[in-house]
Amino acid sequence: MDNQFSLKNYSRSKLAMPNNEKKLLLHSCCAPCAGEIMEAVAASDIQTTVYFYNPNIHPREEYEIRKDENKRFCEKLGFNFIDADYDKDNWFERIKGLENEPERGKRCTECFDMRFERSALFAHENDFRVYATTLGISRWKNMDQINKSGKRAAKRYSDIHYWDFNWRKKGGSSRMIEISKREEFYQQEYCGCVYSLRDTNKWRKKNNKDRIIRGIKFYN
Ligand code: SF4
Repeated sequence: MDNQFSLKNYSRSKLAMPNNEKKLLLHSCCAPCAGEIMEAVAASDIQTTVYFYNPNIHPREEYEIRKDENKRFCEKLGFNFIDADYDKDNWFERIKGLENEPERGKRCTECFDMRFERSALFAHENDFRVYATTLGISRWKNMDQINKSGKRAAKRYSDIHYWDFNWRKKGGSSRMIEISKREEFYQQEYCGCVYSLRDTNKWRKKNNKDRIIRGIKFYN
C-alpha cells in the first residue's frame, strides 16, 4: 500500500539505497533543496534523518531562517532533525586563503569537504551505513565536485557509504520548485557564505540589478 507520499506522484521508480540499506542520514543545506528529496525518500519508505550542518551560511540570521524552514518541513513529514554545530570560526579557518575563489572553485570543495566530513562522522558514530546530501539537486552546483567530496568523506570509515544518486533527473528539478512553491519556502538568493553574497551583489551591480535584501523572499 502507498504511504501518504505516494510514488504515483513521481516519474522515478521506488528508490533503493546502496546495499539495500533502509536507514539514511541526509545532509541538508536548505528546505528548497531538501523538499523534493525528502518526499522521494518518504515515498520509498526509507527511514531518514535530516542532518543540518552548514557553518558556511552567513550571517547568523540567514542561517537561522534557512535552518528553521528545513526544521518546519521535517516536522511536517515526521523526520528526525539533527541541528548540528554552527562552528563558523572553524569554517573561516578552513577557507583561509580561498576567499577570492570563484563559486564552484577550490573554496567550495573545502566547504563541501568540511560539511561532509562531519556528516560522515555523525553517520559512523550513530549507526548509519549510508549518507547523502541535498546539495547536488541545485543546478547552480557542480554535481561531480559534490560527489567527489561526498565519497572522500565516506572513505574515512570502512562502514560508511556515500549515496551519489542524481536527484535532478526524472522530474526531480521541477518537483523541487513545485514543492518549494507549495510550501512557500524561504528563497535564498545567494549560496550561503559571505563571499557568495559579495560576489552575487557584484554581479547584480554590473547587470543593473538591485542588491540582495535578505530575509524577505519566499517561493509562491
Ligand atoms: S559559495 Fe557556497 S559552496 Fe562555495 S564556499 Fe560559499 S557557501 Fe560554500
